[in-house]
Amino acid sequence: MTSRTIGIIGSGIAGCSMAYQVGTQSGEPAEIVVLERAPEIGGRIKRISVGGQSINAGGKYIHSSNELLLGLANTLGLKLSKPMKPKHGPSGIWNGHRFVVRTDGPAWRANASIVRRYGLSILRIHWVTQAFLRRFRRVYRLPVSTAGFETPTDLLHAIGLDHLLWIPGDEYLRDKGISDRAIDEFVSAITRNFYAQNASEIHAFACLVALVGGGTVGSVYTVDGGTIQFCQQLLERSNATVKTDMEIRSIEADGSTVSVATDTEDFEFDVLCIAAPLEPADISIGRSLEGVDFPEDIGFVRLESQFVAGECSPEYFGSTDAPPGSVVTTADSTEPFYDLHRQPTDGETGTYVFALASREPSVPVTETDIFYDVTEVQTIPWNAYPEFTPRSDTAPFRLHPNVYYINAMEPVISAMETQVIASRNVWNLMKETD
Ligand SMILES: Cc1cc2nc3c(=O)[nH]c(=O)nc-3n(C[C@H](O)[C@H](O)[C@H](O)COP(=O)(O)OP(=O)(O)OC[C@H]3O[C@@H](n4cnc5c(N)ncnc54)[C@H](O)[C@@H]3O)c2cc1C
Repeated sequence: MTSRTIGIIGSGIAGCSMAYQVGTQSGEPAEIVVLERAPEIGGRIKRISVGGQSINAGGKYIHSSNELLLGLANTLGLKLSKPMKPKHGPSGIWNGHRFVVRTDGPAWRANASIVRRYGLSILRIHWVTQAFLRRFRRVYRLPVSTAGFETPTDLLHAIGLDHLLWIPGDEYLRDKGISDRAIDEFVSAITRNFYAQNASEIHAFACLVALVGGGTVGSVYTVDGGTIQFCQQLLERSNATVKTDMEIRSIEADGSTVSVATDTEDFEFDVLCIAAPLEPADISIGRSLEGVDFPEDIGFVRLESQFVAGECSPEYFGSTDAPPGSVVTTADSTEPFYDLHRQPTDGETGTYVFALASREPSVPVTETDIFYDVTEVQTIPWNAYPEFTPRSDTAPFRLHPNVYYINAMEPVISAMETQVIASRNVWNLMKETD
């Protein structure tokens, strides 16, 4: 029997989980080739070394509701951290002048300060997020888990959540009785931390996913030794051929063959999966795909993460006490950053490493008074995630009978788990076609 050739563009979590499904679940032999533009695999999952410590620079937290990633971690034998429970969301909400809330002290004080500031709204945020998560979990149950949906909107419709795509996050929450203050401070601090956008700028679906991930319900895990192990292990078990430094310039589908061109090499596949967002990928799409109904321009947030080995200045935050380990900012903050996190230290080097996220172009930390005794700074630029402008239409997962687009999912939401859900959906579509 001749084997089918499957090309995958991109070696992030979407491409790697696609390769794994094809490699381990195909009934017929398949030759899988993963083409990656960067010199290394992983995409927005990255492991770097700063101040003598290894750090997850991109995708890091896995929420306790992420059934697919947790299942894969188990199958691949990856060791997870103990569950971390950020009981009260962010630990310090900074408005540029003062902390409007600090939750890094004892639980009773944190509870009291949150309830004093946001009253019943904080309970309502918890209820709304919990109800959302209950409904979202239908994505893991039959019949949704084995179905192939043509668009992300169809997928969300099947779990009764598609209406959240066209409502702005702030409007949705206000409608649920949550106060403006809680939305602009507490909720926006979390959406800015997750997606560098305020609750008023993004659709309600993205807003609620951020609230889930921000710890208002459940807990989060990290992978001991780095999230990148997901990509490494998935590719290894898929038996895929991986070609790095291979930037795809164009795609053309002709009858039953899909041609893909780079500057140095051309490839032909029976099936192609695009596992990279097309907006920043700079790939020319051939005439056979011209009829595809792509929604209007989707902007991508250009983010810069600065990883700083040094000390964080209490005076910058108007105090002589150490600032909280996690500082997030309110919607009206004019700070040069969206969030500032102290990374968990490995306890060996004694050096603290902080991650500071800003929209590009960021102000170099050496030009601010935020840190002192700085021994190293590494800046990582990202095409981080789409602008989650409320929308009713999304691009199709199937661009052509032989060409699939996993990252059609991203304008709906960008997270590791949802990219694995999108690749599962594409795999279901492919199986239905066979
Ligand atoms: C700073 C940051 C922190 C995050 N933290 C979390 C978190 O804690 N938890 C979570 O769940 N999610 C997190 N996310 C989101 C998550 O990382 C992404 O949603 C997810 O990793 C995207 O995976 P992907 O495979 O779809 O895309 P990518 O990881 O972007 O992979 C696409 C790959 O395609 C390659 N590519 C692009 N164009 C071409 C081309 N023309 N030819 C060949 N190859 C190409 C790219 O180089 C890249 O390797 C974070 C994102 C960022 C930016």
